[in-house]
Amino acid sequence: MKKGLEGLGRWWGGSVVLAGLLLVCPMFVGAGAGGSSQELGPSLVEFQREIVLKLTGGKEIVPGSTLADRFTPERRAVARDYLSSVFQTMDLEPLRHPYRENGESVYALLPSTTGSDEFIVVGAHFDTVDRSPGASDNATGCATVLGVARGLSSLQVRGRGVFFVLFDEEERGLQGSRAFAQKLVDEGKNVVAVHTIDQMGWDGDGDGAIELEVPYEGALELYREAAAVTGFSGHIHVTSETGSDHTAFRRLGMPAVGLTEEYRNGDTTPHIHRPTDTWDTVDFEYLAAGTRLVEAAVTKILRGN
Ligand SMILES: [Zn+2]
Repeated sequence: MKKGLEGLGRWWGGSVVLAGLLLVCPMFVGAGAGGSSQELGPSLVEFQREIVLKLTGGKEIVPGSTLADRFTPERRAVARDYLSSVFQTMDLEPLRHPYRENGESVYALLPSTTGSDEFIVVGAHFDTVDRSPGASDNATGCATVLGVARGLSSLQVRGRGVFFVLFDEEERGLQGSRAFAQKLVDEGKNVVAVHTIDQMGWDGDGDGAIELEVPYEGALELYREAAAVTGFSGHIHVTSETGSDHTAFRRLGMPAVGLTEEYRNGDTTPHIHRPTDTWDTVDFEYLAAGTRLVEAAVTKILRGN
């Protein structure tokens, strides 16, 4: 079941080969099984691969510059600008949430089309520890959030608003997500579900399984139904892991769940927090399958079913 990187074809960066891509590349392979609403453009795998490479130094993030990590204030600023630019490619207005000096998350709101005052949060942290390029941890989570945003932004009817949030400083004690959760409380936002993603790129045994961390009531059933919709075949484990951004929202009373590779069940990246957490350790088909699953789950919430 697992497809190695060599099975994905080489990386075709840049639009010069777009015409060729339209003819030969698995343009709709990724979108087909999930019923995703993607329009013409890169496949989900190619879209996410570009994000992961640019965030992790596998490709220039701006001309002449590659990111060694997303730890220093300067490099996190470069990452924020890039993440903002990705939101803009899907006609979402990129917003910033500065919460302290050098602490600033990036987010966008996809508004409800029905006048609902209820909100969903889909989030992932973009920062890393010092001297780790942070591919699995957590460029993959960022690529999941942006992949879901791309899919949902073309939904015609949305029964709730969705905040897509890329948190700063998860690695320093969930600082970005704690501040963002507090902001939602301070603004009196009615948040019906929070889904955060941390490490969604490693599937060494090829079984496609994921874990739900401390799922709120109904979240496991939601993901089982989403799996049926998308053809997601991996097992969905439940764990009690609290060490990521979902915890910040649960602490303030919001229904929250974390999503990850088999972090507790042992099939997790051995490169975590190391200089070797590089883009070429990421299983992009697994990442895309997880992304389609999250998109299907959030779509179900948006439709109120
Ligand atoms: Zn992480």
